[in-house]
Amino acid sequence: MHMGPSVGNYRVLVAGSEENVGFASPEFISAMKECLDGLAELTGADGGYLPFIIPGSGTAAMESVTTFLREGDRILVLSNGVFGDRWSQIFERFPVQVDKLTARAGESVAMNRISEMVSANSYRMTVMTHVETSTGVRAPVREMISAVRKNSDIVVVDGVASVGGEEVNAALWNADIVLTASQKAIGAPPGLGLLVVRKSLLASADKDRVCGYFLDLRNWAQVMEGMMALKGGYFSTPPVSAVFSMREALRLAREEGLSSRVERHAAAASAIRKAVEDMGLQVVAREGLRSNTVTGVLLGGLDPGEFLKRCADNGVEFAAGVHPELKGRYFRIGHMGWVNSNDVAAAIHAMKKTVGEMT
Ligand code: PMP
Repeated sequence: MHMGPSVGNYRVLVAGSEENVGFASPEFISAMKECLDGLAELTGADGGYLPFIIPGSGTAAMESVTTFLREGDRILVLSNGVFGDRWSQIFERFPVQVDKLTARAGESVAMNRISEMVSANSYRMTVMTHVETSTGVRAPVREMISAVRKNSDIVVVDGVASVGGEEVNAALWNADIVLTASQKAIGAPPGLGLLVVRKSLLASADKDRVCGYFLDLRNWAQVMEGMMALKGGYFSTPPVSAVFSMREALRLAREEGLSSRVERHAAAASAIRKAVEDMGLQVVAREGLRSNTVTGVLLGGLDPGEFLKRCADNGVEFAAGVHPELKGRYFRIGHMGWVNSNDVAAAIHAMKKTVGEMT
């Protein structure tokens, strides 16, 4: 019950264990097309967006949005925790100006602070995190996007911990970019950075760009267009096995149905949170901001290191807390990907047994 890579699915793992195939082979090209179509479906991207699958991970997908920045651009970072903060760490490496609004652990940046900020300034780009994995907070991104839309040319949503387990709808939200990674709620192995990008952004070639070479999405756009047209294309060697695994994960997601998949995640989350509160422990995320995929739990004085070790001995691995404001006071439960009711029951049992041993 970790944050990701989430526990695998046999069909998904086996699909990635075939012989290597060439990236120009018809087998690979059709797998890429299926994955690109599936990614667009999971993120609610219509024909106005181009899906991207690049080698790397969530952070590679995050950094690739620098494709659309120029020297001196002003950027607004809305951070609800460690992964929101990662945005400013990325942008600090580029000659751009960053304004940042930060929420307390368990909260999401208040709407009135966002509105104030965008009424005083115009931004080239605003970035936000749908599910903040360090706390389990799910931000109201649709409202946040409408608040910033008028004064921000480009709006980016980090859906690394949400796509595949939460409702995500790039077109309906009016987001320009939604990004994610293969290893979390999509339930495939790590290795792929995933994005859907509004096509009009790609049309505006920029000679004043500040991005690097490998993560310049303009280099990748022609490859993705070629794959979508079943013609293929090359910029840099893709991780073929990870793509075959992801195709299987997306097939399973389609078999399950997207709304049933989101519902399964929501049911796991609420059963876990209820059990946690029944044990006398406290959920980190404020009520109304609790995600389907991640739950942070305050341990009320129990030592998290000892708690996690004992839980592992009792059969279930959880994740350590990483938010500095809650250091030494909490741990995290990942309930995403292929999580089922047996996993939930086992997780609750391990936690209960451990609390019993430690109190
Ligand atoms: N954003 C969020 C919300 C995340 O949870 C993570 C990974 N935990 C990342 C970005 C970074 O992704 P990766 O570790 O795949 O680079």
